Amino acid sequence: MSHELDSRKLEELKSRMRDRAGQLREEIRQTLIKSDHEQYVQIANEVRDLEDESFADLMVDVNLAEIDRDLDELRAIEAAQLRMAEGAYGVCEHCGMPIEFRRLQLTPFAIRCFDCQSSYERNHVQKTGHTL
Ligand SMILES: [Zn+2]
Repeated sequence: MSHELDSRKLEELKSRMRDRAGQLREEIRQTLIKSDHEQYVQIANEVRDLEDESFADLMVDVNLAEIDRDLDELRAIEAAQLRMAEGAYGVCEHCGMPIEFRRLQLTPFAIRCFDCQSSYERNHVQKTGHTL
């Protein structure tokens, strides 16, 4: 198999994900604190010192629309970190081919290659009339 991810590239993606996850956790924490909701503020204080794992689990009790997007991304990153630990990272879940490195640089938690992602979006994402 000609996988284009060597250990140096994997290391780069790993630290990208670590940084981004830390950023997301901090954003979520700040949102919880600002919510002025006693229970959420308490959760925000509890998770301050937590690293990866249990963070997203604790958020199960939080029902706050503002953190949904951050939480989705955080969960996607955590899943990608798990795949990396298992050595199953960087393979398109649709066609089974290696996901392009430049795509992973943009979206380290991507689960599909460029081609499969485009056709996925064509089929699943509603057209908004917005073009890039
Ligand atoms: Zn694919």
